[in-house]
Parts: sequence; C-alpha cells; structure tokens
Amino acid sequence: MAHIGIVGGGIIGCATALHLLDRGHQVTVIERDAGGLPASVGNAGILAAPEIDPIARPGMLLSAPGWLLDPLGPLTVRWKDLPSLLPWLTRFLLSSRPAQVEQSRQALTFLMQTAATDHAAMAKMAGISGYIRKTGALTIFDTEAARDKAFAHELENARRLGGYDIEKLDAAEARRRVPALSGNFAGAVFNQGYQTFEYPLTFLRRLQASIRERAVFIDAAVSSIAWNDQGISVRTEAQNTHRFDKIVVAAGVWSKALVERLGLHVLLETERGYNTTFVNPSVTLEMPVFFSEHGFVATPFENMLRVGGAVEMAKPDTAANYARAAAMRKKMRRYVPDLPEDGGTEWMGRRPSTPDSIPVIGLHPGDQRIACAFGHGHLGLTLSATTGRHVADLFAGQVSPELDAFSIRRFQ
Ligand SMILES: Cc1cc2nc3c(=O)[nH]c(=O)nc-3n(C[C@H](O)[C@H](O)[C@H](O)COP(=O)(O)OP(=O)(O)OC[C@H]3O[C@@H](n4cnc5c(N)ncnc54)[C@H](O)[C@@H]3O)c2cc1C
Repeated sequence: MAHIGIVGGGIIGCATALHLLDRGHQVTVIERDAGGLPASVGNAGILAAPEIDPIARPGMLLSAPGWLLDPLGPLTVRWKDLPSLLPWLTRFLLSSRPAQVEQSRQALTFLMQTAATDHAAMAKMAGISGYIRKTGALTIFDTEAARDKAFAHELENARRLGGYDIEKLDAAEARRRVPALSGNFAGAVFNQGYQTFEYPLTFLRRLQASIRERAVFIDAAVSSIAWNDQGISVRTEAQNTHRFDKIVVAAGVWSKALVERLGLHVLLETERGYNTTFVNPSVTLEMPVFFSEHGFVATPFENMLRVGGAVEMAKPDTAANYARAAAMRKKMRRYVPDLPEDGGTEWMGRRPSTPDSIPVIGLHPGDQRIACAFGHGHLGLTLSATTGRHVADLFAGQVSPELDAFSIRRFQ
C-alpha cells in the first residue's frame, strides 16, 4: 500500500481520499483553506445524473449572442480577462462541432451511469446516511414550443441512461406539484432522475470529518511539486516539504498552475457562478426548479432555499459582481412572486471548467505516480464519487478503455 498525498480538500479531493482509504492506502490531504467556501460548498446541491450534454453545442451557441448582450444575463465574459481566456474560448467553439458534442456526450454518459450508485457506496465508506433525497426536478418554460423541444431531448437522454421517467406538464400541473410557482409560464418538464443533497456544506464537512478520523489533513497551500525515483515531494508556501509515494492533483481551477509545474498543459478556466441562500425562507419549493431559459436554478434544502447559477467567464481572482445574484432573484420573482427581495446571503463560486465539459481524470502520461482529478465544471458534486473510484482504480493498475476520453493527453 502507498502513502498518497492529495492536493485540494474540495469535493473531488475528499471523494478521492475516501476511495484510497477504502483500498487500504495511507492518505494525506493538503488543503489551503479548510474553512473556506469553494465551489464544493456553495453549489446548487443537485445530483444531476441526467445531464450528459456538454455546454458547447450548436443550440447553446445560437443563444449565446443574445445572452452576451445582457451584462447580468445567463452568460457573460469579463472583457478585460478576454486575452487570457481566448485559447479556452477557441477550443470551446471547436468543441461545439457535432462529432465532438457526441464524443463528450458519450464520455459524460459513461460517468453518469454510475454516479448515483457510486455516491451510495461512498456514503458507506464515510459512514453517513440520509444525505440525499430522491426529489426529481422541474424545468419550467415560457413557451410550449420550448417545453416540447426540451421534453423530447430529455426523453432521448433518459433512454441513453435508463431507469427514470420524464413527464411533460402544463402550467397547472406544475403548480400543483410546486404551488409557489404562481407566476406566468407555459409549462414544465418533470425529470425523475435528479436528486437533492442535504446541503453541500454539510455534506462536504461530513466527508472531511470522516477523512480526518483515518487520514492526515494538513492546512497548507501547496506551492510546488517535484519528483524523482524516491518519490514525490510537495512543498508548501510555509516552506515545509512532504514526501509521498504518489499524489493526486484535485485543486479545482487552481490545478492548472500546479500541473504546469509538472510539465502538463491544460485548458482549464473559471466559469464563475453566483447565488443567494435564504435561511428559513417564506417560500418553499418541493423540489429543485430549473429556469433553464434564464440559466439558473432554485434548490430547496431543509430550512434553506438557494437561488443561482449563470456563467461568468473571468479569471478566478477578478472581483465578484453580486449584481448578478440580484438579477437572478429578480427574474425568479416573475415565476415565484413571493420570493423575498432581500435577506439572503450572496456567494460567488468558481467552476473548474474544460472547454469540452469533460473532466480530467487520469494519470500523468510521463509518471504513473501522479493522478489528475479536476475540471468537473457544472457537475463536480455529481461526479465526485465516480471520479474517486476511477482514480483509485488507476493507481491499482485497473485501466478501463473508456477512461481514455478523460486523459490530460488531449491538451498536450
Ligand atoms: C453556482 C454553482 C452551482 C453548482 N451546482 C452544482 C450542482 O448542483 N451539482 C453538481 O454536481 N455540481 C455543481 N456545481 C459544480 C461543482 O460545485 C464543482 O464542479 C465542484 O465543486 C468542483 O470541486 P473541486 O473539488 O474540483 O474544486 P473546489 O471546490 O474548487 O475545491 C478545490 C480545493 O482545492 C484547494 N486548493 C486550491 N489550490 C490549492 C493549493 N495550492 N494547495 C492546497 N489546496 C489548494 C481549494 O482551497 C479548494 O478547497 C456548481 C458550481 C457552481 C459555481
């Protein structure tokens, strides 16, 4: 058994740690901001197993120009960051070609097919239960034509994945299921394949607590990684050195700089998202509701409601623009008039995204002791347990051919 260091204690790093502990390895997680609020904490809390479509696809490109005209709309680019984003955006456009879309869809289908069962297995490893509810989710539409198109597409995706129902609903039936939707809309699609986590912060802290019982958790920022025949050395900003037999880079969007030091190039940029969380809200929803035409979702947690989403392409450290969170609350009031105007907590998070929506899961092409596990974009919570399992398999020499699609080789 090996001593394995994991850089990053977000959902991907923690899921990987649990799988490696389960296989009997000695594990050390190095996290620079253990009490922080990264994407793994502030996300919408949805197990989005039906989502097998990459973001770059022809229909999305048709909507993009209109969205970009609205600075507070579903998609925006911080123009001063454009020069550094150009290589990613170019590859994003190329990824929307039909052959590439199909390749990405197949790769995501491979991961999504086991996402729910992998989560159940990981919960056992962490000794937790009651962390997820089989809620399904509603997507509501402004026109019947948009609803019908989405229904046909979700049905096709459900056939690929199997095992759950899709229903086409008129507005009255949607309102019967989620009474707070008293505003105007044309209809909805109910997708049974979605599930809702208890609360992303609680879920991550429960995983971290379980890891702390059996592994070492170091509060430190990794500044460099070096390797030789004896092992891998990880150096922290405090100038401490930790030696491991193997390491996993799972540092979200910050993985890009770390793997560059290991001689690897990756197109990894930040799709930033915003949301507002209301505690003890006056409005309750029976399940997550997607406002897809406007690029956001509202998720009900036990005594909270979270409203947010959207995409802002920007460097990770560019200042946040919380007017984006307010814009989504305002839009939601068209459908849920009772949603409070104020009183919630606003948050901005960084989705670590590749241009083809395919995460990087694989070993360093030049050194099998180094694994990459990042770039999960909009789906990291959903795909965390599956990623952890695959990384543990790869270190055990169990290579499945489907994993080729996730290799960092595609960016070299
Ligand atoms: C608004 C929004 C809504 C979302 N909703 C969903 C959803 O409903 N379902 C879903 O599946 N996904 C969702 N996502 C996506 C999901 O949150 C991310 O894909 C996932 O959290 C990425 O996890 P991660 O561990 O790779 O990265 P992160 O959460 O960013 O964690 C990386 C960790 O690495 C640490 N780190 C970085 N650099 C270093 C270093 N040098 N040394 C030590 N530590 C370091 C950071 O401090 C951080 O804790 C959403 C994202 C956003 C922004």
